[in-house]
Amino acid sequence: MIIVLDRGATESQLDEVLREASRSGQQASVTRSKGATLVRLDAPGDLADRLRAFPGVRATLSGNRSYVLSSRDYQETDTLVRVRDVVFGGTKAVLIAGPCSVETRDQIFTVAKAVKAAGAHMLRGGAFKPRTSPWSFQGLGEEGLKLLAEVSVETGLPVVTEVMAPEQVDLVARYADMLQIGSRSVQNFPLLRAAGRSGKPVLLKRGMATDVDEFLGAADYILAEGNPNVVLCERGIRTFETSTRFTLDVVAIPLLEKLTHLPVIADPSHATGLSHLVAPAARAAIAAGADGLLIETHPDPREALSDGRQAVTMAELDALMGPVRAVAAAVGRSF
Ligand code: PEP
Ligand code: MN
Repeated sequence: MIIVLDRGATESQLDEVLREASRSGQQASVTRSKGATLVRLDAPGDLADRLRAFPGVRATLSGNRSYVLSSRDYQETDTLVRVRDVVFGGTKAVLIAGPCSVETRDQIFTVAKAVKAAGAHMLRGGAFKPRTSPWSFQGLGEEGLKLLAEVSVETGLPVVTEVMAPEQVDLVARYADMLQIGSRSVQNFPLLRAAGRSGKPVLLKRGMATDVDEFLGAADYILAEGNPNVVLCERGIRTFETSTRFTLDVVAIPLLEKLTHLPVIADPSHATGLSHLVAPAARAAIAAGADGLLIETHPDPREALSDGRQAVTMAELDALMGPVRAVAAAVGRSF
């Protein structure tokens, strides 16, 4: 049993809880973070019911799980995450589009203008790339961040870009509106904490081998630093199926919506790995209740320096959004 105290709970309110626990012969252990104070009890009995009514107690959570602050038990109402004037988690779904990697000035300016025209609300593009092989293109680094910041001013689109290491957080946060933590970093706990401390909104991608409990545990690392602005992204998990790059876990979207108050978007590009499957996967994700989409878009996918097979062209992005908007309307959403 976990007793969660309000952020603003006083020492004497905590003492009252601990006194009550000890009166009932319970061992209690206390964990403090910027986000909340937790009291863990081994054998709760009816104690939890009594403690729920204590001043300063925000929630009492049962069961063995890795997450507290991201749960609906802790916060029933949806969290809205704002990135400049873009809002994740409201009735309007958010479209993030752009190339896998920032490659050249011309490429990022061309694609940014086109995705904006296709209705994108945010631009994506990697400057620090997590590549399977150290011999593959690793991204432009700070030069890529500078191009993103420039094109953001030019188009008005907020930008999201990946940060791979705790020591990169300050640099990336200087240029980006939102930090992306990639699939391969979802359980890099020092990175999660550093991103939490940055105060920037975070786009947290599900690990390719991370279950829902572990995914929400990762989100809690960011929330525990007092940063409530986390958007989750289902981006496909690894299964026995090898015809697609990963398998879009479409039911994880409504499942997460039940378990957590955080917004959940989907990435049909990495989930499928094949550009012709991006549109149907995008429609499925929106039908399942996703709060937005992340779609890799490239002016010339065959020439892309990373993830070319899954990138849609700018014309394809424009075309696929028509049916996606129709599906959104059918489930009470708009873009
Ligand atoms: C990406 O967004 O380009 C990326 C590397 O995604 P993921 O971490 O989901 O593989
Ligand atoms: Mn990519």
